[in-house]
Amino acid sequence: MNQHEPIRYRSTRSAGPTVPISQAIAAGLAPDGGLYVPEQLPTLDPAAFDPHGSLADTAATLLAPFFAGDALAGELAAICAEAFTFDTPLRALPAHPRTAMLELFHGPTSAFKDVGARFLAACLRRLPRADARPLTILVATSGDTGAAVAAAFHRQPNVDVVILYPDGLVSPRQAHQLGCFGDNVRALRVAGRFDDCQRMVKAALNDAGLQAQRPLSSANSISLGRLLPQMSYYAHAALGWWREHGTPLNFIVPTGNLGNALACLWVRELGLPVGEVRLACNANATLPEFFAGADYAPREAVATLANAMDVGAPSNFERLRWTYPDAARLRQRLQAHSVDDAAIRRTIAGHAREHGEVFCPHTATAMHLLDRLRADGDDASWAVVATAHPAKFESVVEPQVGHPVDVPPALAAMLTRSASAEPLAASDTALRSWLLPT
Ligand SMILES: *Cc1c(COP(=O)(O)O)cnc(C)c1O
Repeated sequence: MNQHEPIRYRSTRSAGPTVPISQAIAAGLAPDGGLYVPEQLPTLDPAAFDPHGSLADTAATLLAPFFAGDALAGELAAICAEAFTFDTPLRALPAHPRTAMLELFHGPTSAFKDVGARFLAACLRRLPRADARPLTILVATSGDTGAAVAAAFHRQPNVDVVILYPDGLVSPRQAHQLGCFGDNVRALRVAGRFDDCQRMVKAALNDAGLQAQRPLSSANSISLGRLLPQMSYYAHAALGWWREHGTPLNFIVPTGNLGNALACLWVRELGLPVGEVRLACNANATLPEFFAGADYAPREAVATLANAMDVGAPSNFERLRWTYPDAARLRQRLQAHSVDDAAIRRTIAGHAREHGEVFCPHTATAMHLLDRLRADGDDASWAVVATAHPAKFESVVEPQVGHPVDVPPALAAMLTRSASAEPLAASDTALRSWLLPT
C-alpha cells in the first residue's frame, strides 16, 4: 500500500495555522472566514486504482492521501462504503458519438448533492466532540443541497439540521422535499434569494457569541467534507474511460457555487486523466465574464430555470484562485459560458423530440454547450455532467417535452409525505434570534 505524507489544511486567506482534515471538516469554514484548502494537492498514479473497483473503492484510494495521518484515516474505507451506496454511471448516448452522460442523480434525493452530504454525515458521525450539546448543521440551499443534507442526517442522534431556502425560488417538488423530513430537520423559507441564505449562514457561523450558546456547523459546499468526495465520480469515470480508450475524458459541468466543477479540476491537478473542463452557467454570468477577461465581479443572483445554479457570488471562487493563483493561467485551463433560459428550454425540447432524452434544466445548460461545440465542428469525447433527475424540475421540463416525466421511487416516496416550512426574514439578526435558545 502507498504511504502518504500527512496533508494539513489551511485557510484560503492565510498561510497558517494549519489543521488536520477532521478539524477542517468539523469546522466547515476557517476561523478567518476563508475556505479550507490542502497545503498542497497530492499527486496520484492512475495505476494505483483497482480497474475492477467500485465507485466506493475508487473514492477510498483517491481520498487516502487527503486523510493520511488523520484520526479518520482508518475509517475512510467504511466512510466511503456508507456514502457511496449508489452508482454514478457514465452512460454513452446512442444518438451522439463520443458523447456520454455522467449521471449523478441516482442517490436518495435525485441530485449530485447526495454524494457530498452523505460523505460529510459519515465523517461527522465518527468525529468525537468535546461538546455534549447537539450540533446544529446550518445549510443554505438553492434547492438540492438542503434535501440531500436532510436525508443524510435525518434522525441522526445529537444533530439538528436547519435548512434555509429562498421562498418561491425552488421548484414545487424541491420545496416539498425540503419540508417533508420533520424530526431533527427544520426548514426555513427565507424572504430573499439564495445569496441571502448563504450570507446568513456565514454570518451565523462567524458569530462566536451565538456559537457559544448553540454549537453550529455548516454543510454547504464550502465544507471540505462535501467537496473532496465529489472528486470520486470524476476520477472513476475518467479512469474507466482512459483504460478503455487510452485518452483523457473532457467534462462539461453545470456550475453555480463551483463546488462540483472544482472537484473535477482538482482531479485533473492530481494527475488523473481529466482533459478539458468547461463550466456551463445560466444567466448568472459572474464566471463567464471573468473568464472572458473582466475583473471578478460578484453580484446579486437573478432567478433562472436552472435554479440550483442561481449564484452571483460563487463561494468556491476563492478555492479556484488558490488552485490557479495566476489569472492568465486560470483562463487558459478553463472556460465558462452562459446559457439563457430560452436556450435551456430549446435544449430540453430539442433533445426530447429528436432523441427521446430528457434532461433537467441544469444538465441542459451543459448539453447546450456541447451542442454549440458540435455545431462548430468539435469531435472530441465529452462527458456532460447530469446533476439532477428531470423529475425534480417537472414544472420546467414537462411543458417542453410534452409528457409526464417518470418519478424515481425515492422521490415518489417523499412526495407522499406531508411537508411544512417556517417563514424567515432575509436578515442575519432574524436567523440569530431564531437559532438562540429561548
Ligand atoms: C447544486 C447544483 C448545481 C451547481 O453545483 P455547484 O457545485 O454549486 O456549482 C448544478 N445542478 C444541480 C442540479 C445542483 O443541485
